Amino acid sequence: MDQSQTRELQQLDAAHHLHPFNDNAALAKRGTRILTRGEGCYVWDAEGNKLLDAFAGLWCVNIGYGRKELGAVAARQMEQLAYYNSFFMCTTEPTIRLAGKLAELTPGDLNHAFFSNSGSEANDTILRMVRHFWAVQDRPQKNIFIGRNNGYHGSTMAGASLGGMKGMHKQGGLPIPDIHHIDPPFWFADGGDMGEEEYGRVCAKRLEDKILELGPDRVAAFIGEPIMGAIGVYIPPKNYWQEIEKICRKYDVLLVADEVICGFGRTGEWFASQYFGFQPDIMTLAKGITSGYIPLGAVMFNDRVAKVLAERGGELAHGYTYSGHPVCTAVALENIRILEEERIVDRCRDDIGHYLAQRWKELGEHALVGEARIAGMVGALELVPAKPERRFFDERGKVGVICRDIALRNGLILRATNDSMLLSPPLVLSREQVDELFEKAWKSLNETAAALGR
Ligand code: PMP
Repeated sequence: MDQSQTRELQQLDAAHHLHPFNDNAALAKRGTRILTRGEGCYVWDAEGNKLLDAFAGLWCVNIGYGRKELGAVAARQMEQLAYYNSFFMCTTEPTIRLAGKLAELTPGDLNHAFFSNSGSEANDTILRMVRHFWAVQDRPQKNIFIGRNNGYHGSTMAGASLGGMKGMHKQGGLPIPDIHHIDPPFWFADGGDMGEEEYGRVCAKRLEDKILELGPDRVAAFIGEPIMGAIGVYIPPKNYWQEIEKICRKYDVLLVADEVICGFGRTGEWFASQYFGFQPDIMTLAKGITSGYIPLGAVMFNDRVAKVLAERGGELAHGYTYSGHPVCTAVALENIRILEEERIVDRCRDDIGHYLAQRWKELGEHALVGEARIAGMVGALELVPAKPERRFFDERGKVGVICRDIALRNGLILRATNDSMLLSPPLVLSREQVDELFEKAWKSLNETAAALGR
């Protein structure tokens, strides 16, 4: 694309396109970055810059860019049967096969799939289905969801309400009623001198306290991201989720794991609930389910929930035109075939994940980095004003943006949330690419420090 075409597109974009999660006035002034091509772990922009995408698009391109098999499957499905719905006692073959495949892949008795187009819609589905689940058992008052402050569960009314992002709640009068939030584990901020186990127990206890405050007969479910992504990759202590599971069982509160980011290999296990060793009753999936090649979300329910809904739930008054869209489910099946046949998830657990962690931890030695955290193939660097104190910059977020922009100029895509630099590369990253990532990140940290006059 030549310069004048790029300018023309930028002007069209500024005039007509409202970007999500963006200061659109600022964007219009600056001009949007237009991405034109992707191959493996790299993307190219309209100016011809080749960028190592250490964020896999938006935590989603697990198998990497440019896999022609997915396009071929989509084209075949479109030619054969471009669309049919799953309403009115119908469905299609790839949708059935994907439901079966997900039942096989997900842990325990998560044997029942409902399809959506996104993670947000999947979480909306959960809110309604869980409330319905309790209501049809004559417990309509057991309708409260507990989520976590700074959690992210999407941007629809229910998704944003289940999440605990205050900035999102401010726009549109959220959260909707009967959703409460507790503080998540983030040791760097409030772990004090507690050891991992103790901190895990203390954080899980926040859930028990909240359940007791609200009354166990009022609390329907607890929802959480096994690793909190959007807020800055907060990795909980190893025992946290097992403690949470015990508490949920004790008070008969359904446990919902939002695996939108973590699912499909991100932690080196197929699902983060396997990584942390707990069993959710319900699981949210999206992103990695198709490696982002086409939109698709899913909710997995366990046998208990499915049985109640089947026997007492009556007609399910919920669904999307594109629930189980055959092109999307066919692409998901092909994506999962590639993940399995090329042993991509195993390779993260047994090989490349270790090397990435080793090099990422080396970045933690930089004077600007207060903590380098990583689990499998997802991590963050916490940029700090001074080491070794665990303290944030006074004006949070400014340094993160500086570092992000410098990294981009150095050919590396990292996302910044507050002053955390977030890592979530395609799972197919090679050793050489890990080294390239390290070198570009180290250089960017140096230049950021220089920009701050340090
Ligand atoms: N849950 C989590 C944990 C997410 O990270 C996201 C998206 N980043 C969502 C839900 C929402 O998914 P979507 O953007 O597909 O609606």
